[in-house]
Amino acid sequence: MTRNRANTLTVHPELTDLPPLAMDESAIDADFLRYFNRTLGRDKQHCTDHYLYEALAYAVRDRLMERWKATRAAYEKRNARRTCYLSLEFLMGRALGNAMLNLDITEPVRQVLQRYGLALEELAEAEHDAGLGNGGLGRLAACFLDSCATLQLPVLGYGLRYEYGMFRQEIVDGRQVEEPDHWLRDGHVWELERPEYTQRVHFGGRTEFYRDEKGRQRVRWVGTHDVLAVPYDVPVPGYGNDSVNSLRLWSATSTDEFDLDDFNAGDYDLAVESKYDAEHITMVLYPNDASENGKELRLRQQYFLASASLKDVLRRHLRLNGNDYEQLAGRNCFQLNDTHPSIAVAELMRLLVDEQRLDWDRAWGIVTRSMAYTNHTLLPEALEKWPVYLFERLLPRLLEIIYEINARFLGEVERRWPGDTDRLRRMSLIEEGETPMVRMAWLAIVGSFSVNGVAGLHSRLLTQGLFRDFFELWPEKFNNKTNGVTQRRWLAMCNPRLSRLISEHIGDGWVTDLAQLRQLETLADDADFQRRWREVKQANKQRLAALVRDEAGAVFSPDALFDIQVKRIHEYKRQLLNCLHVIHLYARIKRGDTADWTPRCVLIGGKAAPGYAMAKLIIRLITSVARLVNADPDVGDRLKLVFLPNYRVSSMELICPGADLSEQISTAGKEASGTGNMKFMMNGAITLGTYDGANIEILEELGEENFFRFGLDAEAVAATRADYRPQAFIEADPDLQAVMELLQGGRFNPYEPGLFDPLIQALTSPGDPWLTLADFRAYVDAQARAAAAYRDPARWTRMSILNTARSGRFSTDRTMQEYNRDIWKLEAVPPEAL
Ligand SMILES: *Cc1c(COP(=O)(O)O)cnc(C)c1O
Repeated sequence: MTRNRANTLTVHPELTDLPPLAMDESAIDADFLRYFNRTLGRDKQHCTDHYLYEALAYAVRDRLMERWKATRAAYEKRNARRTCYLSLEFLMGRALGNAMLNLDITEPVRQVLQRYGLALEELAEAEHDAGLGNGGLGRLAACFLDSCATLQLPVLGYGLRYEYGMFRQEIVDGRQVEEPDHWLRDGHVWELERPEYTQRVHFGGRTEFYRDEKGRQRVRWVGTHDVLAVPYDVPVPGYGNDSVNSLRLWSATSTDEFDLDDFNAGDYDLAVESKYDAEHITMVLYPNDASENGKELRLRQQYFLASASLKDVLRRHLRLNGNDYEQLAGRNCFQLNDTHPSIAVAELMRLLVDEQRLDWDRAWGIVTRSMAYTNHTLLPEALEKWPVYLFERLLPRLLEIIYEINARFLGEVERRWPGDTDRLRRMSLIEEGETPMVRMAWLAIVGSFSVNGVAGLHSRLLTQGLFRDFFELWPEKFNNKTNGVTQRRWLAMCNPRLSRLISEHIGDGWVTDLAQLRQLETLADDADFQRRWREVKQANKQRLAALVRDEAGAVFSPDALFDIQVKRIHEYKRQLLNCLHVIHLYARIKRGDTADWTPRCVLIGGKAAPGYAMAKLIIRLITSVARLVNADPDVGDRLKLVFLPNYRVSSMELICPGADLSEQISTAGKEASGTGNMKFMMNGAITLGTYDGANIEILEELGEENFFRFGLDAEAVAATRADYRPQAFIEADPDLQAVMELLQGGRFNPYEPGLFDPLIQALTSPGDPWLTLADFRAYVDAQARAAAAYRDPARWTRMSILNTARSGRFSTDRTMQEYNRDIWKLEAVPPEAL
């Protein structure tokens, strides 16, 4: 171990029992000044946003620290059952505003800063987003942690401390350019290194049999290349309850012995190389959202997370419960966030059988009583599979264990369906073929006692399609847990104006009980309340227009309809359909068809995976259409189109409060849930969407009159695909013809003929899985209904109020209560008194 700090001394209790810090202005002021001048050691000339932010963040962090310790102490004392949430992604965003909100010190902090002529919002901008995730899946993990801390549930997040997070997106000449996100460069106030809990993770080597002292045959994994996993803890504060949970992020570093051996042998290059190799593991987040990535380094990341986290849990278990492994499943649950950490199933078997020497059946009982798996997508390209040869080289012992799990599992299938070889082939953990592959989703299902989807439709489609064989075998494992978002970040913090207005009328109980927003329904037609609701939206639109001006150099008028689609760029999410609608509006303006026009500002934002050529081409089309439309004097204020670069958590905090219309237009059956849809709804934007994912449940809460629904549903999509003729849709629809003519005639690419041919090809191909042209007419009509509704402010405002009022179901507080009721079964544990 690099630094062994495990040997603690017997110390005087007063060394660790400090009286709690005061939360008032003068105490915060004193700490702020002390950090700036003494800890950071800065002078007049260093009064930059960065150092002032850092000083403030330390003053706030101190107040979390004592609550954090008190929470840990309570969990220890109760030896409480815990859930470990294993995820390759945690898209946390910024921490300062959230910490101040949850500690209820935003106002005193604002006052302190005012004494020095500083604006809180400006200092807060100095904090870099913690972008350790791609999109929805990673942000969901972050919302879950927030809700668990607020519900005082003992839930610990385990993830990776990537040196480089999600890339920064720039738009240069209309194209996406990726810049590395070295987010740790200026230091990270919110983490606490815990070298005393360093773990060792094995790779490579080979396995050999031996007999233990009782003469039993056992296996050991030898000749491995080891990497150290050093944990860094990040505090996760609950709202107003003194609870602070932890997110533990592992950082990879080389073992000392490695380096020493090579140095002693005089091979300095090799010594540095092995160090370099080890540190590569947590160097960078893979920027692929919902698509498989067959790279060896990715498998290393997955195993590194699983092994380090499970060893950490076993370490704690040994300390608290000795080697009583019967209690392991009683005291721990592991929630697998998609298949990414599913190698944990095999790794826990290895740790129990090889290292703790349990027999197989007993170990398997523990594993299958403690693992639970969440599926996030039906897209076949996202189903993780790893070549057997890669496992053989990288994780030989894990492959043997997977083979053994598979043999026993297929035995069970054979007993249930004798002679059904087709079924055996489909359900095997190993996919046969030229390159045999390990099916990670199957490993997760076989090893888990619970398998859930993330919205009603998605969970149903899983049991009917992808997981049907497993559903027939174990129907009791399958369940639904509809996603949510935390209203602390996504309403209370990001929309202070609306929060104040709401709390003025119904109190602030909604911050921890979102269902209370229902009380707003009685105000939906109140003229005075409506006026104030519109004033808030208008101010938020001005704030968003400033962002658009600063980051995209475009002018949005807050009087126009703000029509917004922000999310990862993916064909199934159909930013292309949105773009076709803008082209259609442009064509209407050009032919003078502008009676009863609703001025509209269309904002599209999102990152494309660097290797996803189609997604990048869609960005080019959007920026090309924008260039033409925004410069055309015939268009004027009727229409604007902007691609907002570098969509991320902190920009969404400005976007969703300023939105009028929320575009959720995926091909039905493809968006597992969506969570952006929920953030918009909560902030009073009205959804224009397909019958897909959680849109369905949003629509259920609202009724058709408060939601612009359009397009094919999942069943119609399946039926249409069987005999899809895009050309027929073009021939039947003059509006679509006009759009295709502009596109095919090269209006958006006059200097690069053929540039958009791949997009035109995809749209007009009978094989187009996204059925974009099949939904065009319905989409344009729904947009016209939305535009008409917007021209009637009383009607629109009523819809907006009802959207917020009925968003209660989409709080992750509800989601976490359901996970806890059905899967985790944890008791809430309040912290020790401060
Ligand atoms: C909420 C969120 C997402 C998920 O958006 P969807 O519309 O559900 O795909 C992605 N990225 C960021 C930054 C988010 O805040």
